Amino acid sequence: MLQNAATLIRTGLAKALAPRRPVTVSQWADQHRVLSNKSSPEPGRWRTDRNPILREPMDALSDRSTVREVVMCWPIQAGKTECALNFLGWIMDHQPGPVMVCLPGEVSMNKWISQKLQPLIEETEPVRAALTSTATRDGANRREFKDFSGGQLYLEHAGSTSRLKSTTVRYLVVDELDEFARELRSGDDPIDMLEGRVSAYPTTHKRLYISTPQVRGVSRIEQRYEMSDQRRCHVPCPHCGHSQPLEWSGLVWTVDPHDPHQVIDAQYACRECGALIDESAKPAMLAQHQWIPQRPERSSYHRGYQANGLYYPMGLGPSWRDLARMWLAAQSDPAKLKTFVNDRLAETWEDPAMRAVKHNVIADRAEPYRLRSAPAGVLAVTAGVDTQDNRLAVQIVGWGRGLACWVLDYVELPGDPAEDAVWAELTALLSRPIEHASGGLIRVEATAIDAGGHRTEDVKAYCRRRVIRRPMCIFGAVPNNAPVISKGKLQDINWRGQHDKRGVTIHHVGTVAIKHLLYARLSTDAEKLAEQRQVHLSDQLDQAYFSGLVSETYNPSKNRFEKRRGGARNEPLDTWVYAYAATHHPELRLHRRSKADWDAAEARLVSSAPAVVAAESEGAMPRARPQTPPARPKPLARPTGRNW
Ligand SMILES: [Zn+2]
Repeated sequence: MLQNAATLIRTGLAKALAPRRPVTVSQWADQHRVLSNKSSPEPGRWRTDRNPILREPMDALSDRSTVREVVMCWPIQAGKTECALNFLGWIMDHQPGPVMVCLPGEVSMNKWISQKLQPLIEETEPVRAALTSTATRDGANRREFKDFSGGQLYLEHAGSTSRLKSTTVRYLVVDELDEFARELRSGDDPIDMLEGRVSAYPTTHKRLYISTPQVRGVSRIEQRYEMSDQRRCHVPCPHCGHSQPLEWSGLVWTVDPHDPHQVIDAQYACRECGALIDESAKPAMLAQHQWIPQRPERSSYHRGYQANGLYYPMGLGPSWRDLARMWLAAQSDPAKLKTFVNDRLAETWEDPAMRAVKHNVIADRAEPYRLRSAPAGVLAVTAGVDTQDNRLAVQIVGWGRGLACWVLDYVELPGDPAEDAVWAELTALLSRPIEHASGGLIRVEATAIDAGGHRTEDVKAYCRRRVIRRPMCIFGAVPNNAPVISKGKLQDINWRGQHDKRGVTIHHVGTVAIKHLLYARLSTDAEKLAEQRQVHLSDQLDQAYFSGLVSETYNPSKNRFEKRRGGARNEPLDTWVYAYAATHHPELRLHRRSKADWDAAEARLVSSAPAVVAAESEGAMPRARPQTPPARPKPLARPTGRNW
């Protein structure tokens, strides 16, 4: 009884409030949308709260929002087409105007009409009402064209060029974007043609592009997402509260020891605290989600949303454990794996053969520049140091625009890091300026030193002395999905018992992410001309360096990097990873440099070359600058050990 009365009051209220009050797409859907049992696993009333991460992309389409384009790079079964239908219903009932829905081909269009549009019309009352008010007019209600109060709905596919060229609309919905042909028989790009359809509404149009992605480099949804403000869905860790996007690399699973395809359990590892998160925590996490843009300067106009299968609401789509099982089952079959990566992870696919980088291949494309001399593209320099019980391995790397890199030197300094001698050699090595192609000198600006292993206290002591520029005391982070560097944690306590700001700061380094980045760059560099490559290697580096740099491979079934069998020593790889981490030093942040920042760095280097030492000399930097650039220093102890 009470419930009935409440329902009556609610519907009464809804009716009373209904007339043309501005409502967002999600509010409209919560009030009116009914899911059909023909097309939905959970028929009945739509509830945005059931899949809350859909709220923001839908509401960006509302008329109060300034956003003109919404891009959803989205997995299957996660509600992206429902967003399009809610948008369509909102237009037809609430904010009418001409609207076009475009599909890649005639077959997909017909399927969309019968499986998506028809159920929307049949089950959602205001949409049906908007149509019937004009349905008596001749031709107002054909299969591919529907007249409704205040607007028209055109259903099109990329094959019908004449209509794609002529129709003018205010709202454009493009579903399955990645299935569209690159070029039509007429030579036109169908997406360019569609873009032109809304030009008559320069300040009030809305475009919605949705798709699972396909092949890297040619994926249209990936390209549109790249042009957008690039939002990712952050959710808080239930253990430490750290807000982070859910990434496939963060999923951890255990398999049945007797049947390696049988996943017993799957949990998510927090990238901050490393604690394992049970999937049962997901509804609470999703309820607190936040879409964070990576390019906020574009947010008022062009929004991009990317999610993956880890965000499936419980009961709508596979669980984490199911996803892990599907991933394992796909490992032996590249076609299945591509489908999984596209449909469930909503990531573009790259041929794994492309990723297996061979040392002889990278050695063959080494470039003719001297070690310890920086080619013109180098605008900043960092170093990475690996500590072993009997030596330090040091890599010096130059960085330029887009974080393209030039390996400037790789050296091993023999000696036990528990003794002072090897540290003195390191100081000498890193303090020595490097000749730059401009005629000036360039210096190492930050150095990340691995404190894992047996010499942790010695590394801390060295960093505490600050005899080189920006020493960073680092550890490899445990979680697979850890960011490049963590927020620093102060280690030392002063006499008051408070953290000593001048003491040692420890950073954790996301080695897995950095290795993925390096290997992806090495593989895509293969087809590029030398000047376009992102990783430049000197032909003076020795063979052991090249085999060391590619000494590990990614094992997808374990979701981690492993040493190749009979592989070389991996210090060339580790020290590159640390040098990359050093580019993220909080004072340096080379990865966030804008074009103007790089321009300024270049101008400083070229114009003030003779003054560079005086300007930058602080602390331990030598004050005198030689009149002529120093010749290549005599090689310090070249690598020792069995591989050399
Ligand atoms: Zn946590």
